[in-house]
Amino acid sequence: MVPMPFNTTHDPARRSWIESANAAATDFPLQNLPYGVFRSGENLTPRIGVAIGDQILNLATAAELDLLPAAARTACRQPSLNALMATGPGKWTELRARLSEMLGVDSCPVRLRAQIEHCLVPQAGITMLLPAHIGGYTDFYASIFHATNVGKMLRPDQPLLPNYKWVPIGYHGRSSSIVASGTPVRRPHGQSKAPDAPAPVFGPCKNLDYELELGAFVGPGNRQGEPVPLAAAAGHLFGVVLLNDWSARDIQAWEYQPLGPFLAKNFATTISPWVVTLEALAPFRVPAFARLPGDPAPLPYLADPADTALGGLDLTLEVWLLTQKMRQAGIGPHRLSSGNFSTMYWTLAQLLTHHTSNGCNLQPGDLLGSGTVSGEAKESRGSLLELTMRGTEPLHLPGGEERKFLQDGDEVILRGHAERPGARRIGLGECRGVVLPAAS
Ligand code: MN
Repeated sequence: MVPMPFNTTHDPARRSWIESANAAATDFPLQNLPYGVFRSGENLTPRIGVAIGDQILNLATAAELDLLPAAARTACRQPSLNALMATGPGKWTELRARLSEMLGVDSCPVRLRAQIEHCLVPQAGITMLLPAHIGGYTDFYASIFHATNVGKMLRPDQPLLPNYKWVPIGYHGRSSSIVASGTPVRRPHGQSKAPDAPAPVFGPCKNLDYELELGAFVGPGNRQGEPVPLAAAAGHLFGVVLLNDWSARDIQAWEYQPLGPFLAKNFATTISPWVVTLEALAPFRVPAFARLPGDPAPLPYLADPADTALGGLDLTLEVWLLTQKMRQAGIGPHRLSSGNFSTMYWTLAQLLTHHTSNGCNLQPGDLLGSGTVSGEAKESRGSLLELTMRGTEPLHLPGGEERKFLQDGDEVILRGHAERPGARRIGLGECRGVVLPAAS
């Protein structure tokens, strides 16, 4: 995989004439420029926007005012990002360079400033929608630490199945139930069976959980029957979002054999609204996870020197919880875990290449979930299943509450950011969802 080159858009010294984008703590400085789809009060048509500080640059308006590169004009006037995702790396780079120039304090032509100001919408008070029409959604299992933690609970003698280090494990998820951040999630009903019970029961899920994941949006697709080689995979990856793979553990335990997850997973998946491009993340590339001595090397189709050198991403990913009682008591969200995407056993490029290796065709806007991001340390475990060891070690929350699994009224908040010396810190924003009681 050839990582995208650094260019002037990554220069940490550059500042925006939009003051909020220069705040140290903002997720959306000039160096980020993530894309999303929003709807504002006066205009009900979904529009593509770019987050800059606490503002959104409306790309439909910018296109109408002829401020954008000609090749991006049509794609930027669509109600979703699919067309822009389909244009490919060359066009993405051209558009990003233009946006960076328009919003930079030293690069924006003075005569254009008033026109660009006309395209700005405050983020407060608008509604963020799903960024793309998601035709296909696949969820992987790319953290060896998550796979081992879960495996230990199910199979203490053989936590990691023999295929794990050879084949990126995944399953086809459900795209229709992917929702935008902020959408409440209703506790699902389902079948579950206690180990000592003679028969299963049907009722509200008792062990509702979240999974902290990264979602990667596919850019240009591939034709059916034509796999994407690993060296070309970067050109098919547009950007990333935070992803909460809500999981009903009691339903999952009873249904998962022999075909894998089904109704325990497909009732809702929440994603964050701003798609942070892989070009924006170029300064935070790190080597792919170093396999342990004795681990097999990936098979040739999953091996590429450039991917080994820079296929990883140094991204801090966190889970925060805000219960109803905490909200009522005026207590802020409590951080449950903090992990890093660089601990994943498979790179995003390997996931994409493996997915197409049989000829399966991906399409612009398809979403690849990474699988739960868990590291080696206990505080980096990305699900309650792991943090509480299946509910046997409850968590203690500020305000005196305990949690084994999620309760009604709990809000799960995922956050992510990248920072390192010599680069501007950028963030992924937030992925939020509150649990509603099961339907009566
Ligand atoms: Mn998952």
